[in-house]
Amino acid sequence: MPLIPFDDRDGFIWWEGKLIPWRDAKIHVLSHGLHYASAVFEGERAYAGNIFKLQAHTERLINSGKILGFDIPFTADEINKACYEVMAANNLTDAYIRPIAWRGTEQIAVSAQQTKIHLAIACWNWPNFLGADRLKGVTLQTAHWRRPHPQTAPTASKAAGLYMIGTLSKHTAEAAGFTDSLMLTWDGFLGESTGANMFMAIDGKLHTPVPDCFLDGITRRTVIALAKARGIEIIERHIPPEDLTLAQEVFLAGTAAEVTAVRQIDDHHFTPGQITETLLHDYEALVLMAPEEVAKRAA
Ligand code: PMP
Repeated sequence: MPLIPFDDRDGFIWWEGKLIPWRDAKIHVLSHGLHYASAVFEGERAYAGNIFKLQAHTERLINSGKILGFDIPFTADEINKACYEVMAANNLTDAYIRPIAWRGTEQIAVSAQQTKIHLAIACWNWPNFLGADRLKGVTLQTAHWRRPHPQTAPTASKAAGLYMIGTLSKHTAEAAGFTDSLMLTWDGFLGESTGANMFMAIDGKLHTPVPDCFLDGITRRTVIALAKARGIEIIERHIPPEDLTLAQEVFLAGTAAEVTAVRQIDDHHFTPGQITETLLHDYEALVLMAPEEVAKRAA
């Protein structure tokens, strides 16, 4: 199937307070965000007209910018409203929403104090590409690249530049026939995939890496709350890769990936089982609830 480039589509993009035609949403080539990756973004999903955990995503966006040293010139309420406006303009109720903030053209240099901060929000139809196969599971290959030490990169920010190692790793994994990469932490513990956090079921308990050099994902926190509501014990720890031999089930959790089983990591094979299935269905049910209900049920 030929790819439809993202700049050649119908619809509207929210651009600094206005809705503009999709094809007009362009930046100049001498934008600081392009040269120095001074950009932060979000990935959100709307289900039946409600953007799941929108406030948490907006707060993370603003905080991601602060970590990179800039303030996004819109309030959280304005950003929340804009996300709904752009969905409505594109006639979408189930969508992936992508806000992005970046430094502008005032300076092309490492120092960027005078640059203006821009914000745009796009959205498009992006159903979970795994669909029914989410329970069958994906395959991961351990990457050579590792998540950087938190003093080497601003790892708590959803910063564009941090995805460079993800792209490199994922290309290697895809070339070897795997779905995605497993990123280890800088010191060799299990980390995450290139776009989602990971969980392992060991003897009925759920183990998940401590998110100290990668995002503490909104879906991760939701899954922890859902597991606790089911009485499943959660153990957050630094997990050595050898512990994969102890795991009966492994799954990923992220806004785009939702809850997706992992059936293989390198030479380790797993059979998606009851814990994955239960949490996958609990997550599916939660995202369809009204935002007030979501707030009551999950942290
Ligand atoms: N890690 C990475 C690298 C990601 O890109 C994402 C997706 N934002 C996550 C984890 C999961 O975060 P969330 O559940 O907030 O989408």
